[in-house]
Amino acid sequence: MAKRIVVVGSSNTDMIIQMPRIPRPGETILGGRFSMAAGGKGANQAVAAARAGGAVTFIARVGDDMFGRKAVEGFVADGIDVDHVIRDSQAPSGVALIFVADDGENSIGVASGANARLSPADVETARDAIASADVLVMQLETPLETVRAAAKIAADRRVRVILNPAPAQPLDDDLLGRVSILTPNETEAELLTGIRVDDEATAGKAARALLAKGVQTVLVTLGARGAFLATPEGGLPVPGFKVEPVDTTAAGDVFNGALAVALSEGRSLKESVRFANAAAALSVTKLGAQPSAPSRKEIDAFLAK
Ligand code: ADP
Repeated sequence: MAKRIVVVGSSNTDMIIQMPRIPRPGETILGGRFSMAAGGKGANQAVAAARAGGAVTFIARVGDDMFGRKAVEGFVADGIDVDHVIRDSQAPSGVALIFVADDGENSIGVASGANARLSPADVETARDAIASADVLVMQLETPLETVRAAAKIAADRRVRVILNPAPAQPLDDDLLGRVSILTPNETEAELLTGIRVDDEATAGKAARALLAKGVQTVLVTLGARGAFLATPEGGLPVPGFKVEPVDTTAAGDVFNGALAVALSEGRSLKESVRFANAAAALSVTKLGAQPSAPSRKEIDAFLAK
């Protein structure tokens, strides 16, 4: 039977305009190419975990509008339990407006909408789902007090907590002490520790600083190079897979979703990171956030090669 993963987090609709360059304030540029895709770190991680083979429950808020309805339809199509996805009539669904320039540079504005109203009370309503999960997965696009409340429920019941500290913001030791696995990328690791991270050695240094704050395991993701895995017993690099990158959006999200599934299945940390690296590598070969999350079949076939 598929293991139970609970994801608490954000759901957004990404509206993307690709154009030669990003417009300056006051400027209008014609000739853009528009596309729309389901996004939001929480939803991306939930979808990635479901496709990787987990039985996923998503705890989130969307607006009672067209975007929210479409998002929920997508979750249901991926087999995600949406009993705790609240349709909020007081706020619009989260939206990200994204400019992508031809050189790959981007500029993003996010209106959190209903995501900002995901509350500790919402998490309390879903207490049984969290307390009986194999793994709880969270990020930082919803209020910190909500993340804190869910982490407490999980940690009290010895449910493993994966926290992807993105977008980066300072975190207190009380929350970090409840985190089983913290998964910062290089920028986030630097913000959390003040240590500049740009290779395995500096990732190890930052990871040790985070372990000292009470986190059980730190996994610093290093883009194409893979990830650096650190526990109080020591650290080791887990190399990434070589692929032709098309779009790295949501690579970190797919990594976290797949990681949760592998861990819930009882694989070792190192094996789980290898599985997550494979899923994330596959995702960078496709455009868009949720559209790029690979299926279990694709991940297994890739790893068998
Ligand atoms: P984020 O997307 O959060 O910034 P990273 O850039 O570190 O995080 O990427 C997360 C994971 O995605 C990496 O640990 C790696 O497994 C995978 N990944 C990212 N970029 C590439 C790439 N160009 N080639 C292969 N794997 C990649």
